Amino acid sequence: MKAIVFPQPGEWILEDRPIPRIGPDDLLLKVHACGVCGTDLHIFHGEHFVRFPVIPGHEYAGEVVELGENVKHIAVGDHAAVDPNITCGVCRYCRRGQIHLCEDLTALGVNMDGGFAEFSLVPAKQAYKLPSGLPLEQAALVEPLACGVHGIDLAGISIGDDVVIIGAGPIGLIVMQLARLAGAGRLLVSEPHEPRRRLALELGADAAIDPLNQDVKEEVLKATGIGAGVVIECVGSVRTAEQAVELARRGGTILLFGVTSPGLEAAVKPYDIFLRELTIRGSFINPFTHARAVSLLAGGRVKVDKLISHRLRLDEFGQALSLAGTPEAAKILIEPGG
Ligand SMILES: [Zn+2]
Ligand SMILES: [Zn+2]
Repeated sequence: MKAIVFPQPGEWILEDRPIPRIGPDDLLLKVHACGVCGTDLHIFHGEHFVRFPVIPGHEYAGEVVELGENVKHIAVGDHAAVDPNITCGVCRYCRRGQIHLCEDLTALGVNMDGGFAEFSLVPAKQAYKLPSGLPLEQAALVEPLACGVHGIDLAGISIGDDVVIIGAGPIGLIVMQLARLAGAGRLLVSEPHEPRRRLALELGADAAIDPLNQDVKEEVLKATGIGAGVVIECVGSVRTAEQAVELARRGGTILLFGVTSPGLEAAVKPYDIFLRELTIRGSFINPFTHARAVSLLAGGRVKVDKLISHRLRLDEFGQALSLAGTPEAAKILIEPGG
């Protein structure tokens, strides 16, 4: 089978690999589509807990073509989305129910082979059967959606709370739709690129602020009077993380959802956090949220079709890498059969 391999930091190759042989608790997935994610760029550069060489790709869906003898919850021919994050089940965090904080976390596409390949060996418990009628390309976005569901759980939006989303890339636009479903009052988006602002408005934002030509804090104050109850940072930069703190009202929550490079530091004023009684939270991956993500997508509650900007073949992976994170690109899908 053809697969993208990262042999070492900063390098990728298209390789011919044998089709993986599954064990009794695995399944073999014929990958239909696998999304390129900002995290893939961190993995490419050797950041994050990557192990080289690896077949990257952790946002994928496809058809089950082979099944281990112990697997009962899914059948050959079913469509499935993959939860790439594999937890050990026995560490101190897993046994407290905080499985995503697992001390022995492994992940398909990070330190185990993932979805940028024609086939993928998936431990069967990581596969979620998809309802018929849900296009497999959209199902590739179940993973980022599941991460968004966890973030919204942590954001603690009270019905009617004003919410600001910083960044209207694919993740920002998913989180924005979830914030609306969670009861956001005014829903404001800050995004420098006009086509993304337009899409944000189409998908339910009340206003889209241009941070290059408008004063974001002033606009948020104008719309809310006191600042946002919840600010969700979906860019992953120091500047926007610092800005998120400024946009919150007293008693507000700042959710850091975007992934910055490890080692970067942002400035916060402890006195400000004290006086305004702010909550600053991180949100990491997707514990127990995949089933809800499948249901939201299948029910049409979250729209992802307009977030897909490119469909590329495996041999066009170089193009995907250079497009990722640019304003022309939203979600880029690699379709191995395409
Ligand atoms: Zn991702
Ligand atoms: Zn564990």
